[in-house]
Amino acid sequence: MFSKLRVSVIIPCYNEEEIIEKTHVRVKNVLENCKPKSYEIIYINDGSYDKTLDILEKIAEQDQRVKIISFSRNFGHQPAVSAGINFCKGDIAIIIDADLQDPPELFPELMKKYQQEKSNVVYCVRKERKGESFFKKITAKLFYRMINNLSETSFPVDTGDFRLIDRKVIEEFKKFKEKNKYIRGLISWLGFKQVPFYYEREKRTAGETKYPLKKMIRLALTGLTYFTKKPLIFAINFGVISIIIGLLFTLYAFISKFSSQINTFPGWVSIIIIILFFGGFQLLFIGIIGIYLGNLFDEIKERPEYIVDKIIN
Ligand code: UDP
Ligand code: MG
Repeated sequence: MFSKLRVSVIIPCYNEEEIIEKTHVRVKNVLENCKPKSYEIIYINDGSYDKTLDILEKIAEQDQRVKIISFSRNFGHQPAVSAGINFCKGDIAIIIDADLQDPPELFPELMKKYQQEKSNVVYCVRKERKGESFFKKITAKLFYRMINNLSETSFPVDTGDFRLIDRKVIEEFKKFKEKNKYIRGLISWLGFKQVPFYYEREKRTAGETKYPLKKMIRLALTGLTYFTKKPLIFAINFGVISIIIGLLFTLYAFISKFSSQINTFPGWVSIIIIILFFGGFQLLFIGIIGIYLGNLFDEIKERPEYIVDKIIN
């Protein structure tokens, strides 16, 4: 059924010593069972400081189809996936986390969907997120809804990077010059035929999340600021409203001055409130503009997105 397909599997790993072997066994079994023309499993070691790389090297020694890209330090999940997409040779690539939250056993179904629907992307939509904290679920939900409302392109909701992409998408993806990538956004921005695949997300069985709040916020900010300029428009809108309110206040001040009820003390209080209020808004929006400027700065610097330490096989 998949005898014409060359399959690449992309797995970013950061300190996954507890589970990486298990992951490899499951991924390999699935690939052996669906009998593609050929396959490769690309592990990106994202600067792990535990035994992840040692374990991977041992696996790669016995199997030429296992490739390792090892970063010189921790660059983050998105650069790791990027490296995998840039290096992969298959007709299709499947991106999956190392922690088995997304079951590799779904590969054949993804590939079936890809072939049957002649699609370019099969993206996996989480029906349920088991074992994730209420906080993570609610923030993720809010974020995906927000980015969808704000951005010019629409993104599928509740979708991570677990997906299948074909050669066409891979080649287009490689052309993106931005260093700070929000991959799921870029892929959906690319267009082509993208179909959803619904599944239930499992609990992380070993190790702990490598996405602490700080990294989550960074990813969310990249997603937001790289895909929408609407916050800047908000700043303009708020600015206009502030000016109108300010004018109304001036009008009120004049009227009360000439209507013989001169009363400076309460007026002084309202001025202080106005200064604080509008000063606060100015600061807030200078901050928003600052984020965009920061992105601009990052791009202008043209730093490489990651630095590869070594490539195995
Ligand atoms: N990961 C990575 N670099 C990082 C953080 C995470 O390569 O800096 C990998 C990690 O090993 C895992 C995947 O990205 O394979 C997703 O991370 P995790 O499961 O911790 O995120 P969560 O599922 O909690 O969102
Ligand atoms: Mg996970």
